[in-house]
Amino acid sequence: MFLVEAMPDELAAGQEGRFACLNRVQGNNVRAVLKESLKKEGFNVNNLMQIELLALISGMSPIAYAQAHSAIPALQVTVRPKYVCPHGELVSRKQIAKWGMAVPRKGRFLCKICVTEDMRRYGFSWYRRSHHLIGMDWCVAHGEPLSEVLAEQSFFAPPNIWLERKMVREQVVDRVEFSSAAPFLRRLSEISVAWLGLSRPVSTADLHLNLRRQGSAFCVKNNRGTSDFTIGSFVLSLAPSRWFEENLPFDQESYLNSALRIASSRYGDGVSLPVFSYVLLLAALYPTAEHAIEVLRDLSRDASVRENSGLSLP
Ligand SMILES: [Zn+2]
Repeated sequence: MFLVEAMPDELAAGQEGRFACLNRVQGNNVRAVLKESLKKEGFNVNNLMQIELLALISGMSPIAYAQAHSAIPALQVTVRPKYVCPHGELVSRKQIAKWGMAVPRKGRFLCKICVTEDMRRYGFSWYRRSHHLIGMDWCVAHGEPLSEVLAEQSFFAPPNIWLERKMVREQVVDRVEFSSAAPFLRRLSEISVAWLGLSRPVSTADLHLNLRRQGSAFCVKNNRGTSDFTIGSFVLSLAPSRWFEENLPFDQESYLNSALRIASSRYGDGVSLPVFSYVLLLAALYPTAEHAIEVLRDLSRDASVRENSGLSLP
């Protein structure tokens, strides 16, 4: 039996598929075979979640694994300060069970240059987390448009197999080079990938405060004494309509207006929007990705400072 270690930025579901492929295990037997293999190595695997089993075969702690290989960071914001703890920590076990093996974007994607480099360097290839974020059409490392795998259960064969069999389709959204893509989409890609690198969730109260300040120009008092939000039409002007149709398949303008309304409302701090909504707002409201990323990292650090502020030395 081969125990496959996780590769850089490898998606947990992809590593599970690689384990199944190498060991010729059918999809629904993977868990049982994985447990059996680990038991033979001397591990106690009782009551472990799938993501914990994968952490073990990679020689990593569940926290380190969740931060480096799950999509949890790209899925979780928190409304409760008690959940501002490192992604993968046991206090948020429910979230780990819910999101540990999740894939944010429907489908399987690859970058042809990543695959070529992986094959040259390692002799095999793998699925990356950063290629499976909502709205991502390019590999941020290479600027190459991502290609979609045209096969069911495609995590059970590595990307190079689908490429060799020509069972991939390039992204249909504006076939342009990353370097000439709309600046908004470039900011969005960079912010999405940076979000994936956060070690703990950002709290809605902190994030909303920043969005409220940054988006105040899009909040207009009406004659009823309440506020109208006008950010939707602005955001929709920043990228091709086809891209929005692919990634926000509903009433886009009112959705974006209501996202900023929620972030701007005092009661909105008790509501968490999908991470993709926040990424859209950040990419629209900040002039550069670096600026938005700095804000995000500060919020993540601030949370850790607050978390530790109650500690005292013995
Ligand atoms: Zn690439």
